Amino acid sequence: MRLGILGGGQLARMLALAAAPLGVRARVYDPSPDACAGDVCELATGPYEDHARLREFADDLDAITYEFENVPTNAVDQLAALVPVRPGAQSLRLSQDRAFEKQALTEAGFEVAPWRQVETKGELDDAIAAVGVPAILKTRRGGYDGKGQAIIADREDTAHAWAAIKGRPAILESLVSFQRELSLISVRTSDGSGACYPLVENEHRKGILRVTIAPALGVDTDLQRQAEVMAGRLMSSLGHIGVLTIEFFEVQGRLVANEFAPRVHNSGHWTIDGATTCQFENHVRAVLGMPLGKTKVRSPTIMLNCVGAMPDKSIVLNDPSAKLHDYRKPARPERKVGHVNLVGINPVLAHESAQRLGIDLG
Ligand code: AMP
Repeated sequence: MRLGILGGGQLARMLALAAAPLGVRARVYDPSPDACAGDVCELATGPYEDHARLREFADDLDAITYEFENVPTNAVDQLAALVPVRPGAQSLRLSQDRAFEKQALTEAGFEVAPWRQVETKGELDDAIAAVGVPAILKTRRGGYDGKGQAIIADREDTAHAWAAIKGRPAILESLVSFQRELSLISVRTSDGSGACYPLVENEHRKGILRVTIAPALGVDTDLQRQAEVMAGRLMSSLGHIGVLTIEFFEVQGRLVANEFAPRVHNSGHWTIDGATTCQFENHVRAVLGMPLGKTKVRSPTIMLNCVGAMPDKSIVLNDPSAKLHDYRKPARPERKVGHVNLVGINPVLAHESAQRLGIDLG
C-alpha cells in the first residue's frame, strides 16, 4: 500500500519509518527539497497551491494524511476529490480554529477554561470584564508552540496584547493555575473502534515541549477512563480516523482541556520505544483501514526533546537506557531537531539525565 503525507518534517519522517514494516510505502509532499522526511521515503516538492503537482503526488496513493493541522484547506479539498484524506475534513476544520476547537471539546464533555471570542479591541475589553485577569489572548488561527499569544495581567493594559496579536480574530481565555500539563494520545479507525495511550505529563519552556513522562505519575484509573470516554466522544463526533491528541491542564485532580491536534504529537514520541505499538504505526494502521495495535506501556519512558541542537551522540549512544532519534535537521534556535527516549528510568531523574546527556531543557 501507499500512503501520502502532507508536510515532510519529523512527524512525517517517523510516520514513514513506522509504515515500512507494515509493507506501506510513504510519499511526502513538502515545499522544501530539504524536508527531513525525504531521507527515509519518496519526497515530492511543490507549493501547496500547485494543483498539478498535488495531482501527481496523489497518483496511486491509497490514502493521504498530514503532519500539521495548518495545512491549506484548498490543497486538502483538491486531494480529497482523488484519494481519501484522513483524519478528515471536520477534524481539520475545527482544530484550525481555537473557537471551534473549544466548542467541540465542551460538546464532548471536557471542562475548558472560561473563554470569549474577540474580534475587536472593544470586544477584548468586554471579554476581560467577563473572564477576568490574568488571561491569555490567542489568535484563533495559525498559532502553535505558544506563538500568536499574549498574556494580560492588568485589566487596564490590554493594548500591548492586542498589538502583539496584530488585532487578528482571537479568543481570550482565563490563565489556568495548573499543577501540571498532561496529554492523551487517542486513535480511532473507520469502523469506530478506538484506543488510547495512558495520560502523560509534559513540561514546556516558552511554549515548547521539553520533557514527557510516560505514563504520568499518580493518575487514577477513573481520571484515565473519563478522559478516554470523552476522547472517544470527540473522535466520533468528528468522524475522526487516525491519531488525535488532547492537551490538558491538571487542576486539583481535574482535567481542563486546552486544545487538540488531529495528528501524531510530540508528547507521543515516547511510544516508539515505550509502548507495544507506537503512535505513528497506529496512525498508519488507522488511516489505511488496518486493525489497531496494542497501546500498552512496555516500559515507563522519559522523552527529552532536543531543541536548538543535538547532544553529543557518543554520550547518548553509550547510555544503555537511551534511544536516540535524530531528525537530521540543521540546528537552529528553538527548533526541534531530535529527541531521546530514556526507557525504564525513574521519572524523578528526568532533569539529571538530561544534564548527563548534554540535553539543554531551556
Ligand atoms: P497552546 O498554544 O494553547 O498549546 O499553549 C502553549 C502553552 O502555553 C501551553 O502548553 C501552556 O503551557 C501555556 N498556556 C496556554 N494556555 C494557557 C492557559 N489558559 N493557562 C495557563 N497556561 C496556558
